[in-house]
Parts: sequence; structure tokens; C-alpha cells
Amino acid sequence: MTAFRPKIINFLERDKVEALRQVVQTNRRFVITTHVNPDGDALGCELGLFHALRQLGKEVAILNHSAVPDMYAFMNREGYIQKFEPEQHTALLKQADVVILVDIGEWERLRTVGEALKELKRFTVCIDHHPPNGRAADLEIIHTQASSTGEIVFLLLQELGIKFDLPIATALYTAIMTDTGSFHFTNTTVNSHYMAGVLIELGVDYLGIYRQVYENEKLGKIRLLAELLSRLEFACDGRVAWYVVTREMLERYGLKPGDTEGLADFPRRIQGVEISVLFQELKDRLTKVSLRSTGNIPINGLAQKFGGGGHPYASGAVLEKPLDEVVEEFRRSIEEFYRKNKKLLPVG
Ligand code: 5GP
Ligand code: MN
Repeated sequence: MTAFRPKIINFLERDKVEALRQVVQTNRRFVITTHVNPDGDALGCELGLFHALRQLGKEVAILNHSAVPDMYAFMNREGYIQKFEPEQHTALLKQADVVILVDIGEWERLRTVGEALKELKRFTVCIDHHPPNGRAADLEIIHTQASSTGEIVFLLLQELGIKFDLPIATALYTAIMTDTGSFHFTNTTVNSHYMAGVLIELGVDYLGIYRQVYENEKLGKIRLLAELLSRLEFACDGRVAWYVVTREMLERYGLKPGDTEGLADFPRRIQGVEISVLFQELKDRLTKVSLRSTGNIPINGLAQKFGGGGHPYASGAVLEKPLDEVVEEFRRSIEEFYRKNKKLLPVG
């Protein structure tokens, strides 16, 4: 009998791998960054790359527009991930030979880091799994078939001959686990499971990470969810469900804007619901929309209509409009969306 070997599919493009190898070999100072309100995938990739580059003797800093959200504080006990403070960090960015952007489909979502970068014009590498949307880095390693940017970083580090020590394995496992909703979103593949298996074999505390991410909620968030569920609204014969989070509600439950992570997914559990939406008031005239689909109906086109983007089944937008206006606009668009896409819809 032949020995069983995990069949991880390496979907990387040779020329891109060689280009990255060259970039890494010929440069010394690296800055890594990601999108506003980073998630587990973004932070895990940053840490994985950080440790890998340090293994190669490079100088590395992680600088993000947003501070690490409370729910991911467990990933940053060492404080390697820093919030970008222009006065303090612009010099660091200026000195960098290379800036690596992870999990970011759109320059705009880099916020202050992106603004600083536009002026400084550093060599940029983008590693991502979002469909291209107004992004332009000097070297782009983009694979939309990857469940997470973590899968791409896994393969790249393998190519670079990095030793997968425990911090790297833990960072990559967290990236893949969180972006697949712990291996149940429709982006989950055999590859995701194989990679997770390899990482667990290396000693990753997978149960501990699960507990940190999914069983460590603030009580206020669960109480908020209870209120949201009691106010759930439906459209299109129960195929669309949504709820609205105001600033007043966040304050009442002692929460921060980033604490709503995961709430957009919840209404998908309801029988017959195909699309769930979370509207969140950020400011008087600034509203965030998070769209989720159960996996039959791509909704990133809808997000693009609102000026955002994202994955086919998980996307979003931030609009410079008041909350009520956005909800009303969405209500109209979603009815029209279903009328126009009748062909796509399951019969019955
Ligand atoms: P979330 O709803 O969890 O914030 O974001 C889900 C996905 O939607 C993200 O991974 C990202 O691809 C996309 N997304 C969220 N907000 C925006 C946005 O303002 N602009 C764009 N282009 N994409 C977004
Ligand atoms: Mn991601």
C-alpha cells in the first residue's frame, strides 16, 4: 500500500512566485498592511508573512489603518500588529523597500495607509483572493478560487522555503478558519481542509482558536443580536432578511463599531432566506452595508451598485448617506434585483 499524502493543490502561477522570490531576495525592509477593520484572514496573513520574513532576516513592520479589533486581540498578544499613526510611522513607511498588501481588493480600503502610500510610491505587492476592483500593485498575486488569502500565503511560504513554526502555522490556520466560517461557508474547499490538517499536525491549537473566535463573544453583542432578531425584516417573499444597527444601539450595549463582525451571517440560518444584510450606522451620513448569500445567488454585483464590492457570497459597501436612505434604496434595489434575476432563482 502506498503512503497517504495530502494532495494540496498548488494553484500559484510560476512567474508570480519567481517574481516574489526575487523581490524578497533583493530587498531588506518590508511593511505589511491590510484593509480597514481587519478580519482573521487579514491579520493571520500579516502575522504569517511577518514571521516568515523575519526568519529570512528581514526588517518587518505591520502597520494597519485600524487597531486590532477586540475579538482578535488574542492574535496580537506580542503587539507585532500596530495601528498606523501618520506622525509616528510615515518615516517607517518611507524607508520600506517593499509594502505588502494582504486581503485587499481595493486601495481605498487601506484608508490612511493608502493615502500615505500614494505619496510615497513604494514598491507594492498585493496578495489577495478578492475579485479585482480598482486595485493596482506592482506585483499582484490574486487567486479568487482561494477560500482565504491565508491559503495563498500558505503556498507562497512553502515556495519560499519557510519553516512552518508554530506562530506561522497558528497565524495561517486562524486566517483559513475565520474566512471559511470554520469550514462551512461555500468558499471552503478540499484544499482548505488539507491545509488545515497540515497546520494542525504542526501543533496548532485548533480548538483553542475556535473558542477564541466563536465562543468568546461580549455579552453585549449577544444581547444586541437578541434585539436585532426581534426586529428582523424581510423582503422578496422571505428570501431576503435584514436588520439595522444604529450608533445608539452600540452605545446601549457597550459595543464598538467593529464588534458587529459575524452578525451579518446570522439570518442566513433561517429557512428560505437566501440573502442576509446588516446595515450599520457609522456616522450621520456614513452607512455600512454587509451582504451575505447562502451560496445560490451572487451578491457582489449588488454591492458594487452601492459603490462597494467583495466576494460573490460575502460583500459590502460603505455609503456616504444616512442609514434610513440606504435601507430604503436597498429595499428598492433588492426587489428589482429579484425581478431581473428570475432566471437565476430556484423554481418553486
Ligand atoms: P464585511 O461585510 O464583513 O465588512 O465584508 C465582507 C466582504 O465585503 C469583505 O471581505 C470585502 O470583500 C467586502 N467589502 C466590505 N466592505 C466593503 C467596501 O466598503 N468596499 C468594498 N469594495 N468591499 C467591501
Ligand atoms: Mn479574506
